[in-house]
Amino acid sequence: MKELLGSILPNLTHELKTPLHSILTLVQLLLTEADGPLTEEQKKQLGMVLRNSEHLLELISELLQYSSLESRTRALVIEEFEPETLFDAVCEAIQPLAEKNQVILERDYKQLPKQFVSDRTLIRQIVHNLLSNAVKFTPPSGVVYLFAETTAEGGLILEVVDSGIGIPPEVQKRIFEEFYQAESGESRRFGGVGLGLSLVRAASQALSGSVELRSEAGQGSLFRVLLPSLEEQLKRPKLLVIESDPVLRLTFGELFTANKLDCKIVENRAEALEALASWHPALILLDLPTVKGEADYSLLKEFRSQVASKELPIILISPLDSPKERAQGFQFGASDYLVKPFDNAELLARVRSSLRL
Ligand code: ADP
Repeated sequence: MKELLGSILPNLTHELKTPLHSILTLVQLLLTEADGPLTEEQKKQLGMVLRNSEHLLELISELLQYSSLESRTRALVIEEFEPETLFDAVCEAIQPLAEKNQVILERDYKQLPKQFVSDRTLIRQIVHNLLSNAVKFTPPSGVVYLFAETTAEGGLILEVVDSGIGIPPEVQKRIFEEFYQAESGESRRFGGVGLGLSLVRAASQALSGSVELRSEAGQGSLFRVLLPSLEEQLKRPKLLVIESDPVLRLTFGELFTANKLDCKIVENRAEALEALASWHPALILLDLPTVKGEADYSLLKEFRSQVASKELPIILISPLDSPKERAQGFQFGASDYLVKPFDNAELLARVRSSLRL
């Protein structure tokens, strides 16, 4: 499962989403009756196709989000934002579900900082998933609370507390696993695919935080998330890595994150050019593609033609170790050249030296 989520699934994004989008668009078009009137039965059946396709799309999006967090291919977007505004927006988004289930949704913020530095999309996801579960698993006239407060170190404590069905100890052990649902009958009744809490855990970890659970069957649940301020990361140098090998992607992700570099790892030319234009890296690490043993310098050349400044360092990683290949690499715009298999310490030293750190 890990292998599927980490390496195969991201490659299928397009293949899975494109046909589904076509199905959705066509069904929506048919339902407008622009091509002639539909019978009530046809409308009912098309409505079912639409809802199922939307559900499938949601599932694929959740899977992709989860796999990109797990495989560390999603770079964090660290910025300053108002936590209170963010939490209010999530509560308002959940409010209709709370009303539908006749659950009261309360919020209580204690000395929240005006500004907080972290990845706001991931925090929104964490709060959204915890609140929607709490509302989902609390019977009518129950209460769900969102508590938020600041820690002494400037981090955030978030608590989602419900008075719902609770979670027995044996289930608590497995609850953050992907696709885990406590009990199939119950789960089917409540909807969901068992990815919500896996995403909460993966997102909390990606934000250098943690999540813990306290619950008793029949007594409700408390999920507590601790999130540090990532202010220091705002100043981290950005590194764009183009790597198609899943094992090396993981290695790079761990190596650079552990060494306080903000790295984004992409697999192909389109993603690389998009990241170059919108993310503005301070350094590029390009694993030189080879076709039948021959080096393919086209992406390197394209980078150089796209970047007006020749200042942007590009480190080329290549399996080819001959003076001729090295010369070509430099000629086409590389600023450094490293031969595979390389040593992590040497790579890190070269990255630091290129960034003048
Ligand atoms: P799903 O998307 O199916 O809700 P989750 O990963 O969010 O998946 O949750 C996994 C399982 O954990 C749920 O199916 C449910 O059995 C249990 N669970 C999650 N949150 C709560 C809660 N607040 N109260 C009781 N059970 C919960």
